[in-house]
Amino acid sequence: MRAKNEFPDVVERWFRDQAANLWPAALGSLSFRRCPCVREHCEACRSGEQHSSYVLYGRIKGRRSSIYVPEELVPEVEQCLDNGRTLQELLYQSAFRYIKALKHEREQRSKG
Ligand SMILES: [Zn+2]
Repeated sequence: MRAKNEFPDVVERWFRDQAANLWPAALGSLSFRRCPCVREHCEACRSGEQHSSYVLYGRIKGRRSSIYVPEELVPEVEQCLDNGRTLQELLYQSAFRYIKALKHEREQRSKG
């Protein structure tokens, strides 16, 4: 972590630089499921193998939501989730740096 004596605009530039390459970003948890289907004489279901699918779970305004993720999109969704975690980590760091910067700015102002 860098200098204590930075101003808020420096923290803002740092955050924008760091976040610039973090799109697409998402939060949630990706789960792998095996489920039976609705067809009557399905070979995969009868053999017990069933059907695999991916589902992303998350919360929207406190409500649990889920969305089906086609298998070919899984690598892209995983990349989104990695970016989301990195972005979340950045926001935690930003809290501390920005508050320190605001305090520093206030001290400088009170000195005149
Ligand atoms: Zn089936």
